[in-house]
Amino acid sequence: MNLAEWLVRSATLYADRPALLRGDAIVADYRGFARMAASLAGALRERHGIAPGDRVAILAENSVEYLIAMYGAWMAGAAIVPVNAKLHGREAAWIIEDADATLVFVSERTADGLAPFLPPTCGAPVELGSKAFAAMTAGDRTLAPAPRSRDDLAWLFYTSGTTGRPKGVMITHGNIHAMAFAYFVDVDRVERTDAALYAAPMSHGAGLYNVQHVLRAARHAVPESGAFDAGEVLDLSKRLDNVHMFAAPTMVRRLVDAARSAGDNGQGIRTIVYGGGPMYLTDIVAAVEVMGPRFCQIYGQGECPMTITALGRALVADRVHPRWRERLASVGTAQSCVEVGVVDANGRPLPIGEAGEVVVRGAPVMAGYWRNERATAETIRDGWLWTGDVGALDGDGFLTLKDRSKDVIISGGTNIYPREVEEALLTHPGVREVSVVGVPDPQWGEAVIAFVVTAPGAAVTPEALDRHCLERIARFKRPKVYRFVAELPKNNYGKVLKTELRRMFETTRQEA
Ligand code: AMP
Repeated sequence: MNLAEWLVRSATLYADRPALLRGDAIVADYRGFARMAASLAGALRERHGIAPGDRVAILAENSVEYLIAMYGAWMAGAAIVPVNAKLHGREAAWIIEDADATLVFVSERTADGLAPFLPPTCGAPVELGSKAFAAMTAGDRTLAPAPRSRDDLAWLFYTSGTTGRPKGVMITHGNIHAMAFAYFVDVDRVERTDAALYAAPMSHGAGLYNVQHVLRAARHAVPESGAFDAGEVLDLSKRLDNVHMFAAPTMVRRLVDAARSAGDNGQGIRTIVYGGGPMYLTDIVAAVEVMGPRFCQIYGQGECPMTITALGRALVADRVHPRWRERLASVGTAQSCVEVGVVDANGRPLPIGEAGEVVVRGAPVMAGYWRNERATAETIRDGWLWTGDVGALDGDGFLTLKDRSKDVIISGGTNIYPREVEEALLTHPGVREVSVVGVPDPQWGEAVIAFVVTAPGAAVTPEALDRHCLERIARFKRPKVYRFVAELPKNNYGKVLKTELRRMFETTRQEA
């Protein structure tokens, strides 16, 4: 079934319900949303020759038009290729060319950067919100979505490519259905009075998560800034009420800091789904203290979007449970539609408590990498997706992630999980943010290096941090070197770029 059917159904049953909002101003009801998407689909087919199976790229910041473009493309039977709006024009063009996209939607901000690099096979870009876009979405079409099967491509998601070129992850209509159903079962309910607030980039998980809100005919609100601004989110949430949002852990932290200093408790926000990177124990404890039981966690990856494990609201907030902290430091239990395992290098399941690679099997697992059979065969073996994440299961099925396998440090022949060192350092009051990496070392194979952002006004020394670690973790896990930095390099989705940290260390080492 074509995902756009959900929009058609909501528009039929709840035509007058508010659908698209800019800030708290209603831009379209469900009737209008579906009509614009259908008109766009008609224009894509008739004026741009888009046929079912073609790819339509979107290189833009968050906007209500983003959702119209997404559903217009789906109604026409095309797959969307959302591209990180912060990429360099050359990088975005590489993705557009690799995806063999026929057309690209751009924004005022991304248009100029892309223009010099646009592949010749792609038609002239259409700017979201422009006169041309308005002409394509005007009209009174009620077009039936092109028939699509569960195995047809819906979303070509490009991995962030922190190592080498990004790969296109083929996410099908069926994968997204499974993700949406699991959301209702494992993460949260959605009502018509709810509002999905798009504070994180729509080209990633936050955008994927629109579908459950379309299915339930809830509101979709895009902050006027089109980006993440903690003050704006807190303020807007009070006006919208019943807000759901997806946020990377770094965003949660900024939100909690802003709420704390404003004496705010996040009123108006019902659910913050966090994930996409490690949420440190100190941070989630502080978040629940300041904002209360508004948090759920998910663990997923592009290859199994948003749908590997979940840690529900009750578990996050259950402070009296004897294993509350332990569970809070985990990513929860398997979502309903998947099996999750932890295996050794040969794929053999490991005993409870032992760390190995996390594997997952089930309906949301990608169809494979776009035009890359070798990478697909390396990643999906016997139906199991090898996630590249290292984790351990406990006796109750809670999965605790250690790190990406490539970030595990092997020093003196022993595995050191950076996250454990980071968690220990973050309990020091003078440490605001930290990231730990391994760098080549002639004596130990690899050495542990910590990049530290100190709390405002804190005077922290390497000796003090060393003492702090000695009280908490084994001696051999202590960082050999501390580098104090003003900020950590992160990508548009809030993930710390460890490859960049290793590179920074090597550059300064060579200069020294
Ligand atoms: P992406 O494919 O860009 O969504 O990145 C997925 C990766 O982010 C996963 O393989 C994990 O390494 C990491 N990740 C996602 N969710 C979580 C989580 N809840 N806790 C820790 N790491 C996570």
